[in-house]
Amino acid sequence: MKKFLATICAAFMLMTPAQAEDLGVELSDIGAGEFNTPIEKFYATLPQAKGDYKSRQRPIIIEGAMNTETEVLIRALKNPVAYRELNYLFVAGTYKDYPVVIVRTEIGMANAAASTALAIKKFNPVAVINQGTAGGHDPALKIGDIVIGERSFDNTAYRSAYSAAGVGIDLTKQENIGTYAYDKTSGKFQAYTEYFSDSTLFNIAFKVANANKNFNVVSGVIGTGNTWLECVDYVNFLHEKYGSSCEEMETNVAAQICQNAGIPFIGIRVLSDNVTNSREYVPETAKVAQDFVLLVVENYIRDVLKIKGVR
Ligand code: SAH
Repeated sequence: MKKFLATICAAFMLMTPAQAEDLGVELSDIGAGEFNTPIEKFYATLPQAKGDYKSRQRPIIIEGAMNTETEVLIRALKNPVAYRELNYLFVAGTYKDYPVVIVRTEIGMANAAASTALAIKKFNPVAVINQGTAGGHDPALKIGDIVIGERSFDNTAYRSAYSAAGVGIDLTKQENIGTYAYDKTSGKFQAYTEYFSDSTLFNIAFKVANANKNFNVVSGVIGTGNTWLECVDYVNFLHEKYGSSCEEMETNVAAQICQNAGIPFIGIRVLSDNVTNSREYVPETAKVAQDFVLLVVENYIRDVLKIKGVR
């Protein structure tokens, strides 16, 4: 209870009254202490969109799985309106006078795929950024550090080596078989053992990191699965075999859907936990990723979209 109150107080201090007023959202509705407010309650607090989304410019999409991973982003939007499709929530508004849509993907791979596909169809984005918390695989990384995903992979997509009944289970005898996405050249869906982030988004993210030394940022590899691994030997194995910096549950599928649609994509994650060097879980670190991503978005709008006059 004490911790809960402290979190709410901290959240209050981070917000100016003007921001709260602008959105009309009560803190108790999307408070940092709650990772998943009921959809009905949250949706009712936002102005609801009438009709289809219309924008002269193609918006930037920023995704996060939970309240804690989207509330800072939603509060940063001007004139937010909410859409709801198949019970996923999308909040469209502007940031730095450019259209931005926040997608609450919900947790896990299927939800990230479905909400990303719906968002692409509905909003026709110019780029997609998936962000949120992650668990470290690299012992050199601490809670609160940020990983800019140079690439991602599915750390559950593997074919095991054959072993006979009764010899026991050895998860380390495996090959990554990838996930299937559209390949423009062959016109077929093909297996990708990894997806690379868009180089423009990657370079902008790095520029932001270099200019803002208050964030601890590395480039790295994001491993995605519907798993939360706490067995350090297996985590070490994934880190050594695939070079994974961290694990989470959404990035690689969002990358896969963006590859299908030909949309520039990047995953950016903050460590909320790292079982290789700590037993702590600090979900409040989600704020750090959102603050960093807002800077990336600001720079992308200014240095890439406005210069190109993107429509
Ligand atoms: N905070 C929730 C549970 C979060 S489930 C609770 O209290 O019950 C995991 C979510 O956090 C996913 O969206 C995933 O992307 C991210 N995540 C953070 N650390 C993770 C880890 N070590 N392994 C897998 N997912 C992790």
